Amino acid sequence: MPTDRYRIHPGAAVDLAAHDPDDRALFDGTRDDAEAVIGAQTKRLEALQELLYAENQHKVLIVLQAMDTGGKDGVIRRVFDGVNPQGVKVAGFKKPTPDELAHDYLWRVHPHTPGSGEIAIFNRSHYEDVLVVRVHGLVPADRWQRRFDHINAFEKLLADEGTTILKFFLHISKDEQKARLQARLDDPEKHWKFRVGDLDERRRWDDYMAAYAEAIARTSTRHAPWYVIPGNRKWYRDLVIGRIIVATLEALDMRFPPPEIDPRSVMVE
Ligand code: ADP
Repeated sequence: MPTDRYRIHPGAAVDLAAHDPDDRALFDGTRDDAEAVIGAQTKRLEALQELLYAENQHKVLIVLQAMDTGGKDGVIRRVFDGVNPQGVKVAGFKKPTPDELAHDYLWRVHPHTPGSGEIAIFNRSHYEDVLVVRVHGLVPADRWQRRFDHINAFEKLLADEGTTILKFFLHISKDEQKARLQARLDDPEKHWKFRVGDLDERRRWDDYMAAYAEAIARTSTRHAPWYVIPGNRKWYRDLVIGRIIVATLEALDMRFPPPEIDPRSVMVE
């Protein structure tokens, strides 16, 4: 599949500086051309989601991770535009509550994994526990280092029990983040999105890149692959992610369940 371009192969080293956030190798049309393709993909995704729901066999988990302004919300809005909200649930993971902190870090995550026929989208995820937690030293290093193994085992469990997992890192450049943060400051309707804490995180950009690179390298597996998606152009990001999700769902080879009765044998009066 052409989108394999962005897939991280199991065991491969990851150098994020070698992944161009402006890459657009899979599409040489204009932005308008892309919008038409995205629209068609969304229609296809809508049909596939209905089939997933009707068949009620597979479970699909989509993990979105990114630096602030990286576009997680935009992907959820655009790629899933028109998909029946009854079959898709979004779970956001923010700073843990005291109750969550009193448990292991996967405790709050597991209840949000998808059931049969469902798509679950994680807006941030258990990966925060090897990212922000590492960068801010919230637990000792020997503790977060062990988490890569837990995460791989957790995702293997989900996969073994019928979950198809796709993980996307939306990769923007530091300059692009600057422009997006400034745009939030310049637009009164975007002020609510701006948090002073974002500037503190931005100062730790290099630490985050190192943390992301190791997390992605250590946890990209055959059953739960990471994709590093060029994120500077929103339309390209949405186009590529939509294409990967559609291709993955197509490969599940789903079928509508057979009718309970022969439809020709009943008459609706
Ligand atoms: P978002 O940026 O996803 O739109 P927020 O601005 O509310 O939402 O940010 C959520 C914050 O919660 C992020 O700074 C993130 O790093 C933090 N967070 C998420 N999970 C954890 C965790 N396990 N430990 C500490 N902080 C976390």
